[in-house]
Amino acid sequence: RVNGAGLVQLINRYAEVVAENRTYLIELDSAIGDADHGENLDRGLKAAVAKLEEVAPTAPSDVLKTVATTLISKVGGAAGPLYGTAFLRASAAVQGKPELEASDIVAALRAAQDGLVARGKAEPGDKTMVDAWGPALTAAEGALLAGSDAVGVLAAAADAAEAGMRATVPLVARKGRASYLGPRSAGHQDPGATSTALLFRTMADLAA
Ligand code: ADP
Ligand code: MG
Ligand code: MG
Repeated sequence: RVNGAGLVQLINRYAEVVAENRTYLIELDSAIGDADHGENLDRGLKAAVAKLEEVAPTAPSDVLKTVATTLISKVGGAAGPLYGTAFLRASAAVQGKPELEASDIVAALRAAQDGLVARGKAEPGDKTMVDAWGPALTAAEGALLAGSDAVGVLAAAADAAEAGMRATVPLVARKGRASYLGPRSAGHQDPGATSTALLFRTMADLAA
């Protein structure tokens, strides 16, 4: 089970992970984009950490909403509004719940992905963060159905997100800036799929 404080801990840890991977994400984005993904996310998450300290929300839904609005308002580029929408939908999915159990976590992940897709219109195989998010969600739902607890669900999701991230390498981008490169986008790992895999790994590590 995870409460609001646990989610604050998750955002704080993810902000650290993104800061540690800032240069890596910038390098990935410099190959097929505009070299700012690491900077965008680093800035957005630092702002989210500061906002959480200031507002001090306690309910899971309020924590997720604070992160969402901060990412949407503070991050330029595609990823801020996309992650922001994901967090906003996750917030709505857990409204009124003081603690989240495995099924709530999966419902929040499902809502987040639906928001991501509604906002960005990317399909599987378009070489975007959806290519990490989709397999992660499928794995999480499968693990939940098989009777796993939150630790097992999130471990399965993180492994699948990383596999999905690696599978973006040969893809030709059909959404976002990388799509401007056409076939030249193949041979590079998608930055957004990479930051999504880092998010799922952070969740799994904290749950374990
Ligand atoms: P920008 O491309 O505007 O500079 P970022 O560099 O922060 O924004 O984020 C780029 C990432 O956003 C891509 O690697 C991709 O994963 C993701 N992305 C771009 N467009 C979409 C979309 N329509 N749907 C889902 N993800 C997208
Ligand atoms: Mg970029
Ligand atoms: Mg940009």
